[in-house]
Amino acid sequence: MKEFILYVVYYDFFYYFMHRLLHSRYFYPIHKIHHKQLQPQYYDFYNIHILELPISNVGLFFAIYLHRLYMYQFLCAVIFINIRGIMEHDMRFAFLVGNHHLLHHKYFSCNYGGYWLDYIFGTLRTDKINDKLE
Ligand SMILES: [Zn+2]
Ligand SMILES: [Zn+2]
Repeated sequence: MKEFILYVVYYDFFYYFMHRLLHSRYFYPIHKIHHKQLQPQYYDFYNIHILELPISNVGLFFAIYLHRLYMYQFLCAVIFINIRGIMEHDMRFAFLVGNHHLLHHKYFSCNYGGYWLDYIFGTLRTDKINDKLE
């Protein structure tokens, strides 16, 4: 269980910074594919440029490099990250995972990662959960 949490925390931590990098002038052409939808659907979690895949998963590679790989825990973490990502892109799951990432798709310059990371680094935006995304 410890390794599962570790993998998810590593992923979230690095994803926050990689995501901010993806919003920079030089990397946004890669990331803009993901931002085509202002109101994303669950499948838009996978609607990314091929180069964004290794960039956004740097944290998992880093965790594997630094720690012994526990394959079962790693697979559970990857499955969790994917299910959470799918749910974060669909308003129907907002009652469960909140609208944190949906607000990122609406406003672009906020909510780059996990709630706690956006809180720490001053990029948190919290609108009401039932606000319509238009
Ligand atoms: Zn997204
Ligand atoms: Zn983005």
